[in-house]
Amino acid sequence: MKGRVFSGARPTGRQHIGNYLGAIKNYVALQDDYDCIYCIVDVHALTTLEETGNIKENTNEMMLDWLAAGLDPERSILFVQSHVPQVMELHTFLSMITPLGWLTRVTTFKEKARMQPHNINYGLVGYPVLMTADIILYKADIVPVGEDQLPHLELAREIVRRFNNLFGDTFPEPQAKLTDSPLVLGLDGVNKMSKSLDNHIELAASHEETSRRVMTAFTDPSRIYRSDPGHPEVCNIYSLHKLFNPDRIEELGEECRNAGIGCVDCKRLLAEGINAELAPLRERRTILAETPKYVADVLAEGAHRASTIASETIGEVKGKMGLI
Ligand code: SF4
Repeated sequence: MKGRVFSGARPTGRQHIGNYLGAIKNYVALQDDYDCIYCIVDVHALTTLEETGNIKENTNEMMLDWLAAGLDPERSILFVQSHVPQVMELHTFLSMITPLGWLTRVTTFKEKARMQPHNINYGLVGYPVLMTADIILYKADIVPVGEDQLPHLELAREIVRRFNNLFGDTFPEPQAKLTDSPLVLGLDGVNKMSKSLDNHIELAASHEETSRRVMTAFTDPSRIYRSDPGHPEVCNIYSLHKLFNPDRIEELGEECRNAGIGCVDCKRLLAEGINAELAPLRERRTILAETPKYVADVLAEGAHRASTIASETIGEVKGKMGLI
């Protein structure tokens, strides 16, 4: 029997190449070996968002990118967290067995509380409990994560162990599947690629927009004149070439070092590489976007399938907790 993968992502709207290389490509590949459940976690977004008006639009745009990138609604369950309300029930049940101290010690809670001192809401501290409910409602046994998310998953495992100890074996302890995702720096060459820092390139950007944005990227700061030899190892354009033009990486590195290529030409080659890789995705996205109800239908079907599994789990949990 195939393992079951669960992963969730906040509705951040149109995805960028950092999202693509860091998560989406991996989501697509996992479909070959696992039963996959991918969720847009809109309720989680409420813990930090003060402006909620664009959640629906962001969800739609994000799902279009996921589908265009190759997530297949025939093979995977694709849905929105709030469309399967049983997760809120399970969250409440788990909150009754989770010691508060486990939650207040979580580093990301402390960081978020520092960042938004005017809005330290209950949802912020309860976030790991809801995240645990997201995973175990579907009895997922595998969660693709980066190293930075390991502490959250360990907390989920602790909550599962506590539930199973108190009420009998019910949930599998979810295992981390460490993803080998590259750190994609933004066009500023310093920070992780991020929409909020406006240092990103959207998957759905046009060829022209992609080229325009690549041209704004920072390069090796010591290369002032075209004749100056460059240092590709400190240049983010070069690290992006590794991802989009791997066949030419040696040659480009050499040409940079001996000033055989200028930064403008080097960036033009990168833009061509990005555009070539993303062309099929962009074409599919345009076609999918022409059918206005397509995403809504995929999400409704995904919610229906997820809900069937969720109802079974909630019935079992209520029984074990003595509620029915
Ligand atoms: Fe960076 Fe390319 Fe310029 Fe070298 S030639 S500094 S790799 S942009």
